[in-house]
Amino acid sequence: MNLLAIENLKVHFPVRQPFIGRAKEFVHAVDDVNFTIAAGETVGLVGESGCGKTTLGRAAIKLIEPTSGRIVFDGEEIGALSGAELRARRRRFQMVFQDPYGSLDPRLTVADIIGEALEIHGLASGATERRRRVEVLLKQVGLDSSHASRLPHQFSGGQRQRIGIARALAVEPRLIVCDEPVSALDVSVQAQIINLLQDLQREHGIAYLFVAHDLAVVKHISRRILVMYLGRIVESGEAKSLCRSPKHPYTQALLSAVPVVDPDSKRQRILLAGDVPSPIHPPGGCPFHPRCPIAEARCKTEVPALRELEPGHLAACHLATAETGGQ
Ligand code: SF4
Repeated sequence: MNLLAIENLKVHFPVRQPFIGRAKEFVHAVDDVNFTIAAGETVGLVGESGCGKTTLGRAAIKLIEPTSGRIVFDGEEIGALSGAELRARRRRFQMVFQDPYGSLDPRLTVADIIGEALEIHGLASGATERRRRVEVLLKQVGLDSSHASRLPHQFSGGQRQRIGIARALAVEPRLIVCDEPVSALDVSVQAQIINLLQDLQREHGIAYLFVAHDLAVVKHISRRILVMYLGRIVESGEAKSLCRSPKHPYTQALLSAVPVVDPDSKRQRILLAGDVPSPIHPPGGCPFHPRCPIAEARCKTEVPALRELEPGHLAACHLATAETGGQ
């Protein structure tokens, strides 16, 4: 059964207009996105910066109000909830942020940062119980109970990310949206944090939506991957199938940038021209056509549907077939 089901989700932000009377324009940050996450599953969400993945991650757990669409969490439609009703559900879905320093209040001790979450949701009665729970949580994320009285600036980046994870873990969530949780860390520390997330998943059955621009990281941790471009999912499938046989030219380009261990590999780096276009005026037809190395005339006018090309493997490209993309 699905823990989270996102249906036709859109997030369009109005753009401020310099002249009164001009028609409003909108940033199409997330455009008609559908996906599911099963209990205990990790789904990776990958794309270049500016593709809408952070907005999608936040909208999926109502940290941003969607423009339209449905969010069904554990069988309940939460898209329409607000106020106390939403706060009561919120302990079931948490977020770990990219910047482990910016997301921790520098004036609070670690005990207060983690204890605050326990208190809001009534998960520790009294100071002694709270202190005990904080110590257990610190241990679970590989920190020492003596760290509880310190301030965030006294920790390294990796340790701060562990504190962020402990804070999310405090309320016993079933889903954590991890927004670029390792991109600000050194490579060796990245591996430690990813191992920690995987250990916690095994112990607690937590599901992750793992948002990152680096397909190498996403590939390692995810069972399924969603590839996002200009607010839309352009390819999705089992991580192994998608990485072995990417169907969409955008996914092929992202994968070509992932270092390969095999010295005999003949894989060529595909360099994409230009940046992601403006989400205020996305290109017509296939939104990827201005950068696509194999675009045809119809790509400028016809929007490609997200089609299932192999069981569970979908891509939005007119030219993609089941045979496309063997590596
Ligand atoms: Fe490229 Fe056309 Fe496929 Fe879009 S539909 S990815 S432009 S070939």
